[in-house]
Amino acid sequence: MMCLLCDRPFQASSSWYDVVLRKFPPVICERCRESFEAAEPNDDVEALFTYNDAMKHYIERYKFGKDVALAEVFRSDIYEALRNRRETIVAVPLHRERLHERTFSQVHCLLEAAHIPYANILKKVVHDQQSKKTLAERQNNKNRFLLQGEICIQGQEFIIVDDIYTTGATVGEIKNILLSHGATKVSSFVLAKVKSNKNYLV
Ligand SMILES: [Zn+2]
Repeated sequence: MMCLLCDRPFQASSSWYDVVLRKFPPVICERCRESFEAAEPNDDVEALFTYNDAMKHYIERYKFGKDVALAEVFRSDIYEALRNRRETIVAVPLHRERLHERTFSQVHCLLEAAHIPYANILKKVVHDQQSKKTLAERQNNKNRFLLQGEICIQGQEFIIVDDIYTTGATVGEIKNILLSHGATKVSSFVLAKVKSNKNYLV
């Protein structure tokens, strides 16, 4: 098969074949795989990877290049991390206009590729151009999300899932909404976390 990232042919080595990888055979070669850097544990968020150059390039192709097939690249990692969680999974939504221009929601597609069910309980009501704003403006950008649907929040536990964690403003805002509606515990999970000393804007 061909690697989805570098287009070179590859064979998955036998050491890769555990139960999860039989369910989700790898779609990228080991060389590309090794270009991603596992995240160090931290208190703010559960992250799979550090936002390095390989991840930046991946996100550019997946999200901005609209290459939806790349949702499969990390499906076994996401499946493994979230499959046995008892909390309700909540995907950070896109604004309707952003969804229209991008054609797909990157977080929902990551979860769907990994066969992880999620609840659609949030709606993004403010269409922001985050990358054009300063850090202070982004941190002050409140009330961008509203609850929707019939799900009971009271007494429930949630995991908010996003693709990239930069300042924590987005998950922080959603966490506050859920807690203020009676959620007992809200944690967050992301594909990649920007190192706090790096100034990437994504
Ligand atoms: Zn490759």
